[in-house]
Amino acid sequence: MSTAKLTIDLDALVTNWRSLDAKTNCETAAVVKANGYGLDVTRVGKALAAAGARNFFVAAAEEGVILRRALGAGPGISVFSGHMDGDTKLLQEFQLTPMVNSLDQLLRHFEHLPGHPFGVQLDTGMNRLGMEPAEWGAVRDIALGQGPVLLMSHLACADEPGHGMNAHQLKMFRDMTDGIEVPRSLSATGGLLLGPDYHFDLCRPGIGLYGGLPFAQAMPVVRLDLPVIQTRDLVPGETVGYGNMWTAQRPTRIATVAAGYADGLIRAMGNLDMGAGGIQVFAEATPCPVVGRVSMDLITVDVTDIAEVPASLSLINEVQTVDVVADAAGTIGYEILTSLGHRYARTYKG
Ligand SMILES: *Cc1c(COP(=O)(O)O)cnc(C)c1O
Repeated sequence: MSTAKLTIDLDALVTNWRSLDAKTNCETAAVVKANGYGLDVTRVGKALAAAGARNFFVAAAEEGVILRRALGAGPGISVFSGHMDGDTKLLQEFQLTPMVNSLDQLLRHFEHLPGHPFGVQLDTGMNRLGMEPAEWGAVRDIALGQGPVLLMSHLACADEPGHGMNAHQLKMFRDMTDGIEVPRSLSATGGLLLGPDYHFDLCRPGIGLYGGLPFAQAMPVVRLDLPVIQTRDLVPGETVGYGNMWTAQRPTRIATVAAGYADGLIRAMGNLDMGAGGIQVFAEATPCPVVGRVSMDLITVDVTDIAEVPASLSLINEVQTVDVVADAAGTIGYEILTSLGHRYARTYKG
């Protein structure tokens, strides 16, 4: 079989959710936007709901619809983009809770869905989503009069614990919400790990559930095994792949492996100078450097140092996590996860 195999460990996902939950005294929700960070929102959502997660967050109402169909009635599903023009029917029919971001959204919500649950998203300095202090000051009495279920904001620098922005946003959030009798949420994975000051009533981890930094103790959730299609032997001076980017310095055995940038193996990760510092694939525990350019469907690997080339080589595993792969590509684990391609044969454990 020439399709690469992506194994998603739902038990590890659940363990990560429980580990994060154990770090706080507040509720732990689950962020499952972008199809559960690329891992399948239906399976991820069901596994977490079975483990006890009661609230989920998605980016758009359409994502909420898919999740609601998977989970059935009961769990809360909140939408970060709020109540957009055209969302009303979906929000109502699928019992989705918009986190309204502006006065416009607030008015739209009150006009079209009076009495339907909503939360309010506040901007404490990230300048991305939510009401800024002045806007909030002007509308807060009206908003609070309608009984929001959550007041939330989002941290810009929580993956850098020493960053001054964290304390700044915490103070802003407190200034905007202290004394209000509505549940509050400030933190995603990074903020949860900053400690109790950042926990409030509910934390909203995403990446940590899926095994990514900044949750360094996370269990790996994703494993990627790539079938070897062909091997060949090169004499010194021969080159490999597009642009002749890599030249054999010694008699070299090259394995050609089925997966490339169309499968989310970002091309930048293969743009190496003689294989130094880039990603590897593993034959059991033995690392073999990826050499030459990443192509659309293929990568090439120096397997000279292993006695017998196995049928498949692993690219994402316990040693080379999504974050290690991300580093080699100049990106972050989030982007590696959400880029994992549709061609993989996906297997779910647990
Ligand atoms: C994506 C997102 C989260 C989850 O963030 P992680 O860093 O993946 O834990 C939480 N809140 C908001 C508003 C988000 O956009």
